[in-house]
Amino acid sequence: MDEKTLSFTRRELLQKAALSAALLAVPGITGFTTIPRYQPTGAPEGKTLYLTNAEVVHVVSGLIFSDQTISVRDGIIRSVSPLPPETREGDVVLDLKNQYVLPGLIDAHCHITMPGAAGLTAGIFLDVLNQLKRNYIQQLRQGVTTIRDMGALPKILHANLDQIQKGELIGPRVVYCNAFTNVLGGHPDIDPREMGILADLVMTLTGESNMWFKDTDELKEKMKQNSARGASFIKLTMDKISVLCGKGQIPTYSDEHLRVIFAFARKNNLATAGHIHTRFGFNRALQYGLNSIEHSINELLAPEEIETMAVREIFTVPTMTVVQTMAAPEAYDELPRKFRTDFIEREIAARRDYFNSNLDQYTEASIHKSNIAHLENYKKYGCENLYKNTRYMANPDLYFNIMLAGPANLLAMKDAGIVIGCGTDAGVPLSYHGTLWREMEMLKRIGFTNAEVLRCATFNNAKIIGMADKIGTVDSGKLADLVVLRENPLKKIEACRQPSLVIKDGKIYDVGKIAFGT
Ligand SMILES: [Zn+2]
Repeated sequence: MDEKTLSFTRRELLQKAALSAALLAVPGITGFTTIPRYQPTGAPEGKTLYLTNAEVVHVVSGLIFSDQTISVRDGIIRSVSPLPPETREGDVVLDLKNQYVLPGLIDAHCHITMPGAAGLTAGIFLDVLNQLKRNYIQQLRQGVTTIRDMGALPKILHANLDQIQKGELIGPRVVYCNAFTNVLGGHPDIDPREMGILADLVMTLTGESNMWFKDTDELKEKMKQNSARGASFIKLTMDKISVLCGKGQIPTYSDEHLRVIFAFARKNNLATAGHIHTRFGFNRALQYGLNSIEHSINELLAPEEIETMAVREIFTVPTMTVVQTMAAPEAYDELPRKFRTDFIEREIAARRDYFNSNLDQYTEASIHKSNIAHLENYKKYGCENLYKNTRYMANPDLYFNIMLAGPANLLAMKDAGIVIGCGTDAGVPLSYHGTLWREMEMLKRIGFTNAEVLRCATFNNAKIIGMADKIGTVDSGKLADLVVLRENPLKKIEACRQPSLVIKDGKIYDVGKIAFGT
């Protein structure tokens, strides 16, 4: 952090003080909400829920099994068969005639404790607090029954998980890493407290989302603390260039750091996932045997590189929609010729349609409005001046280059048999929770079949997060996480946008009846 980012104007200081006071006044930060409680339904303990006449989508084969009876007891799928139910007293039957049943969707890359807002100001402060709760509900409403959180404010995360446990909040199952395991100043490039809302005092309540270790001793100590409380993987940030306009190079791990991190991961049976946009990070991921490459690369990979990735069984979660979102044409008077491909032109149109659509299901309106207003900063300051003016915005040039190379890399990875997942990166500005459908539909536009898209968002994601024995398919013995759709997603992937029912751990959530409050 340089001098400039530390010196605030008087107005900014006052604003920070006001926000801190407001946050402190809120009981336990996360206690505040206007969200009404929602009580899911289902069969009582020990009784069976029968879902009858269901069209079950088998995501591994891409086939549909018609007129199936799925029996669920105590949160587990007990059988899937063409036989009618043998009900006993107290059992519950739900007729799903002409409806399609998918395994619960998985968002394999998101940030559930982040509100999806660019700069946080006093004007949207209360909406942001509400949004942090809505994130969980929005995910569940879209049929997402499990998420992998890729870097959180740990205290907020654990407060929310407690609330879900107690039934005070509804939401998906969360697989998490707690904070980022990043070197001081590394990606995500900024400290949340620089963004205007999370002053020092507040960070003690939310927990630090960045580890930001200074040396190997501190790394060892902080890794121990961070992996406590149920973390199942380590989130690394592998690039040495910033994603932000006007920031340039950022620090990254030394080889000694990586040796220490990978030894710790092996010893504690933790997976590793790395934020990677460049070949530098990609090569290091291959070298150290990272488990999953998160996001996509800004240049074309050679066939040998993809082959090595396949041989080492490295997974990827491409998060192409966040790439599309950050590739901001607003930054240019005229988009450079090399970026004007048919694919990119179509994606710019899809991005514009999304921004202009009714996003009430996905974000507090004030947050989206503020995000859209932020886009004007590109022209106002010029990309290279944004960082020094404390405007933290993604570098569109980086993301347009990923738009050029990403699809071809991804199709080559698919051909090489690499396990490709599906994730949103929701929580970053303009990427909202509950929009996994955007990534699913973008994968389709890139050239995946509907069956492949469904597999990415379920079975492949389950493998990537290490839960393939429990979730990812509709099979007996697995957790009863199911999504009920009105139309056939193998014919129309858009059917996944709005499920009619979502079942998690055997409990039924009627999507139309879940309210957010305001
Ligand atoms: Zn992320």
